[in-house]
Amino acid sequence: MCLTIPAKVLSVEDPHSDVPLKRITIRDSKGERLITALLPDLKAGDWVLYASDMAVTKIGEDDAREILDLLEPKSQIDLSQLDSAFLGILRACHTRELKREEIIRLLGTEDKTETDALFSEANTIRQANLKDFFCIHGIVEFSNQCIRNCFYCGLRRESKDVCRYRMTPDEIVSSVDDAVTRRGYKLIVLQSGDDFSYTDDMLAGIIRRIKERCKVFIFMSVGERGLESYKRMKDAGASGVLFRFETSNKAIYDSIHPGQSYEDRIAHLRGMKEMGYYIATGFLIGLPGQTVADIADDIRTLKTIGANMVTVGPFIPCNGTPMYSHPAGSAAMTLKVTAVARLLMPRAKIPVTTALETIESEEGRRLGLSSGANSLMFNLTPERHRVDYRIYPNKYHGKEEVWEKYGLFKEGLSYKMLEKKMFEAFEAQG
Ligand code: SF4
Repeated sequence: MCLTIPAKVLSVEDPHSDVPLKRITIRDSKGERLITALLPDLKAGDWVLYASDMAVTKIGEDDAREILDLLEPKSQIDLSQLDSAFLGILRACHTRELKREEIIRLLGTEDKTETDALFSEANTIRQANLKDFFCIHGIVEFSNQCIRNCFYCGLRRESKDVCRYRMTPDEIVSSVDDAVTRRGYKLIVLQSGDDFSYTDDMLAGIIRRIKERCKVFIFMSVGERGLESYKRMKDAGASGVLFRFETSNKAIYDSIHPGQSYEDRIAHLRGMKEMGYYIATGFLIGLPGQTVADIADDIRTLKTIGANMVTVGPFIPCNGTPMYSHPAGSAAMTLKVTAVARLLMPRAKIPVTTALETIESEEGRRLGLSSGANSLMFNLTPERHRVDYRIYPNKYHGKEEVWEKYGLFKEGLSYKMLEKKMFEAFEAQG
């Protein structure tokens, strides 16, 4: 669903005319603007929720303040305190590609004023390119079985204390149906470990059944199955893939993914892109041996691959895995990466990842959204299975009902808006 933004109505043009579609002037945190409204009896002083320059409903002021509190950045920046070279890099991103060393300089800062300026610039770029198009997407984790053995993951095949589950095709279809028809979701990721007990026929059948029942974008996150398998899913109606490369440093990749290769991973991504998939990909922050320069290369890899959605999260240690004693990745670095990714990819969709929420709670959501991210991903896995999808421990779930309250429910408009934005993002990334 698209997240609607509260604003106060300043005036209504021609309030007594019979024309149902009215032009209204609103004021939100960014100033005044003219939008349209299809709401009867609207008057100056009312509060509305709007999305994509259209007011969609009237709300009370208290409700408006509740969501504004979640969205608005809290700090002011004094640019006179900023190092001129740093400011120069922030300005340069508007006119040219940033160089590797410039990205490293942005990521390497630990100065509060510089970091705030970076977040603010990213937020401004998001605003200029995407307006207030915030989305809430859902994820259904339908199987926690996996044949792989990634060193950082609690679901790796050698993890013994995992209660394994597989949802049936009927359960998967009805979970998505419920999320779309009752809760208003328009984009849902179907995720599992690399679990080949779901054949290509089964996955294609699940996608087809969902598309017959609901108007929803389906993203598949089912691991390395070969391109033929992804072709089948695309033909059945899948729109995108969530498929992270995790690190662009081949030596690190190979050291934590036994039996897998970085080249295969990238070949999958390139093949999926050629097939016309909307590509959601990204990497982990805080891997053993990872440097700031590696992270800069990871961000550049996103561009090279033509990512449409960027998903970056901090590594979180999980007991029972070979990386249990390795320290967690940094939330501060994750936010800087989010901001730099926004500088380089102004129109990309950038969700706040659950891993960031897990180490920073609700503040992680707010900080993510005010440093360039523009979407959230909520867990729609049935309650009885959630605790068992444990890539890392203590996954954050919170305040989702507050956010959902402001999602644009059950509206064809929401799907249309998302379709348009996805198309634009796809075109922009090539
Ligand atoms: S990260 Fe994914 S592929 Fe690797 S073990 Fe975990 S579920 Fe399997």
